[in-house]
Amino acid sequence: MIELRGVHRSFEEDEARVDALRGVDLTIERGALVAVVGPSGSGKSTLLNLIGALDQPTSGEVLLSGRSLARLSRTELARVRSTTVGFVFQAFNLVPGISVAENVALPAVLARQRPSDYRDQVARLLDLVGLAAKADRLPGQLSGGEQQRVAVARALVMDPPILLADEPTGNLDTKAGQTIIELLEASNDAGHTIVLVTHDMRLASRAQRIVHLRDGEITNVTCPSPRDRRLEEILEVGDPAPRRY
Ligand code: ADP
Ligand code: MG
Repeated sequence: MIELRGVHRSFEEDEARVDALRGVDLTIERGALVAVVGPSGSGKSTLLNLIGALDQPTSGEVLLSGRSLARLSRTELARVRSTTVGFVFQAFNLVPGISVAENVALPAVLARQRPSDYRDQVARLLDLVGLAAKADRLPGQLSGGEQQRVAVARALVMDPPILLADEPTGNLDTKAGQTIIELLEASNDAGHTIVLVTHDMRLASRAQRIVHLRDGEITNVTCPSPRDRRLEEILEVGDPAPRRY
């Protein structure tokens, strides 16, 4: 589903060069819930932006469903961003001047769908995130936790196979953060592949796999649940093939 092969990403700043990612190989299977953890500046957001086609690697390639993003035209890339991935950011990023329902509908509107095409989906998602009663409010009238629930609904409105969340609980208290994680888990149960960047090891431990990043490199991949860990040991015994995460 998601594959990174020898991915490097460097940024030129004045005279200096920052190597945000330095040779990342990673395979995330369809339906997985994977957490990415690491210190600030380790390359987590860069990794997520590359998977979401918001950015391109300096070298190496990113494949979604076996298709290299580097080979897609601008129109095809725009379609990937619109229909293949949904994004949830730490800062919610809602549009302040339009209602909650209009924010959720926004990706569908931008994809030129008609209201009759997305109306039911928006209602269903507002229901799912517990905000049906606040559909006509403005984002500024909601709490942070509620705003992030709107952002989750918006990320799901096009029913993308992949959901990318960059520190989605970073601005929330524990309880509101917990609700967001439960929503992500429910989306994962419903079939969405999820990549969750988080500082919080407790949240990360609810993923099937945790990818540890440091200085732009994967230093470790762990499986929090004992059942998965046993499975990994069994697989490693007779399997000399490159490890798949
Ligand atoms: P994280 O999300 O783990 O905190 P980032 O992926 O945001 O890390 O950043 C990794 C490194 O790349 C940092 O040193 C950061 O300053 C640098 N970086 C990220 N994006 C840019 C950019 N657009 N221009 C210049 N440097 C960047
Ligand atoms: Mg970041």
